[in-house]
Amino acid sequence: MEVMQVLHMNKGEGETSYAQNSTVQRNIMTLANSFIEEALAVLLCNNNYPESMGIADLGCSSGPNTLMLVSEVIGAIYAISRQMERPMPELRVSLNDLPGNDFNDIFVSLPAFYNKLKEEKLGSGFDQCFISGVPGSFYGRLFPRRSLHFVHSSSSLHWLSQVPPALDSKAGVTLNKGKIYISKTSPLSVLEAYLVQFQKDFSLFLRSRSEEMVSGGRMVLSFMGRRISEDPSNERSCHQWELLSHALMSMVSEGFVQEEKVDSFNAPYYAPCPEELESEIMKEGSFTVDCLKAFEVDWDGGSSSSHEAENCTKSETLTSGQRVAKTIRAVVESMLESHFGKEIMDELFRRYALLVDDYFSKTRPKYVNLVISITKK
Ligand code: SAH
Repeated sequence: MEVMQVLHMNKGEGETSYAQNSTVQRNIMTLANSFIEEALAVLLCNNNYPESMGIADLGCSSGPNTLMLVSEVIGAIYAISRQMERPMPELRVSLNDLPGNDFNDIFVSLPAFYNKLKEEKLGSGFDQCFISGVPGSFYGRLFPRRSLHFVHSSSSLHWLSQVPPALDSKAGVTLNKGKIYISKTSPLSVLEAYLVQFQKDFSLFLRSRSEEMVSGGRMVLSFMGRRISEDPSNERSCHQWELLSHALMSMVSEGFVQEEKVDSFNAPYYAPCPEELESEIMKEGSFTVDCLKAFEVDWDGGSSSSHEAENCTKSETLTSGQRVAKTIRAVVESMLESHFGKEIMDELFRRYALLVDDYFSKTRPKYVNLVISITKK
């Protein structure tokens, strides 16, 4: 599976789109706001107050979260510059994602976004904000040398650049039978293969950014992870995949899906623990860690404040399982569809919703999300 070509969040504004089903990621993004404000305050408060500031959001996707993040960053810079009684720096905001991302959806909403900025922050130089799209993988160079001051990424770095080669179906061996990610039944070689791929990818990510960032530049990264020393096969960091593999296997047992198809699919995903992150940062050597924190986030994004629930015009409200299934579907459908075929998707996520509902009857599941703020030496 070529992740670069296959992975994209569900496009457009329809019922299964990422735009309509990204409340969990929005909540996660909000958790990092204080990290973003702190990082920008430090960046702007030193003697190097920049005239022109390079900002990048890596894995921006499309839908309401994309420009909400840009708003948050611009708002924070605006507040700091007013406090310091300095003119706003010129802002060069780059929105990055893989080439299959729905960049058009972002671009068509830019005129309204610029207008709102001008109205809200009138007379403060908002004609000096230039937003552009940068398609490509963040596991490699994307920007000119020393052009970035602030880099942000949310809910994206848990995606690997590829399925670990030892697990790729092309390798011809089935190490992870009946599973699609690390599971309690996975042999140690599966855990190792995932960790090695994460290490390779994350160090390439750091190396690429270290070329692109100015000295003293800051990155705030937030993604799915584990708590300190937590085993990668513990329920909290992989049960969303476990239930998806159960849904697939139930379809295998009824003859809708070939077992070999499940055996040969492994998600290009890894939820690291703080030690794994810190060790790669130390080995790569260009960044220092300012702050790292773990948060817990409800699988269903919290019930009452759910964006989808607010927007729901149907009289029935969704069960937790249905909400989780819609969230996961908006993220992984492109990958599953290319491997298992479009025709099983509705049935797969119907079964998944039931399994998640059953799980909710026993527990209130939460993801662990890590937020880390680092500085370029
Ligand atoms: N930041 C947004 C979107 C998160 S979804 C939010 O918080 O709502 C994750 C995004 O990461 C997807 O759009 C996916 O295409 C992107 N992504 C995954 N791997 C990537 C890579 N190697 N390079 C660039 N983008 C990537």
